[in-house]
Amino acid sequence: MTARCLVLTMLLVLAAATPAAAQFSDVPGVFPGASSTKAAPSPAMTAKPALAGAAQAASAPSAPAGPPAKQLFGAAKVPAALEARAIGSYARGCLAGARPIATDGPAWQAMRLSRNRNWGHPALVALVERLAVEAKARDGWPGLLLGDMSQPRGGPMLTGHASHQLGLDADIWLTPMPDRKLTTKEREEISATSMLAAGELTVDPRIWTPRHLALIRRAASYPEVERIFVHPGIKQALCKAAGGPANRPWLAKVRPMWGHNFHFHVRIACPKGSQGCEPQKAVTGDDGCGKELEDWFALLKAPPKPGGPPKPPMTLEQLPAACKLVLDAPATTEAVAKGN
Ligand SMILES: [Zn+2]
Repeated sequence: MTARCLVLTMLLVLAAATPAAAQFSDVPGVFPGASSTKAAPSPAMTAKPALAGAAQAASAPSAPAGPPAKQLFGAAKVPAALEARAIGSYARGCLAGARPIATDGPAWQAMRLSRNRNWGHPALVALVERLAVEAKARDGWPGLLLGDMSQPRGGPMLTGHASHQLGLDADIWLTPMPDRKLTTKEREEISATSMLAAGELTVDPRIWTPRHLALIRRAASYPEVERIFVHPGIKQALCKAAGGPANRPWLAKVRPMWGHNFHFHVRIACPKGSQGCEPQKAVTGDDGCGKELEDWFALLKAPPKPGGPPKPPMTLEQLPAACKLVLDAPATTEAVAKGN
């Protein structure tokens, strides 16, 4: 863990004591610093808040043995030849039977291919494909640039997210897809676009457009989507544009979160048949355009100071037992055929 990640992790732990603490149970996996407006090489390059485990870590009698689970899952290059199943919770689990999303589709292009994080539960792959195609056909969105989904066997990652462990989370850039096929190099190097005005916590009206709203609204319209994470400044823009409270129920799923000004994060529910997938608490139904947003802006303006020691990285034995089977399972036949 870098010093920066460390500090940010501590920041988040402290933040749990603030009025907006309830937000952090969302665990989208992006740290506070990502909310800055400076250019980032990727919208998905973020460190780990890892709040979900904070309480357990505090009460754990001793540090568990074994290498960090992120090293084990980070080393898995191909999926497990098992029936598709999301196992555990969004920030503490793994994925059996992952499918890759195509690097190029009729309405999307996957970015940062070297990361090998374009894997998901088949239900997530289907959802992202549907969103891409429908947003292009109906909202005038030119196509999706896809950021991180999950590793081939899910699990914790060596860098970046605390969540994205079950194959049920996808980061989607807020930069519209260009009207050409990007090269592999471009997919590594192009920076995403922040929606925020320089040095501000609000969106730049020259960059943020009604098409962005339509895209996020469409993502929220699918019943299997349980949460969408966006920067509080984007949530504010959505609230304003949506109009009065009668037009805002869909915004209950759209959760403010640190970072998420270069991309939004779509999270789907535990798919049917995923035994051992732990659902998140349902959103309250409050559209969040009132006090919740005010609390977030207060927090953004006065982030909590870091403090306390970092918790040790999760080990395999801290994940659901089935994740060991996922790690040990043979590769899928497609992967074997490719020589992996
Ligand atoms: Zn994400």
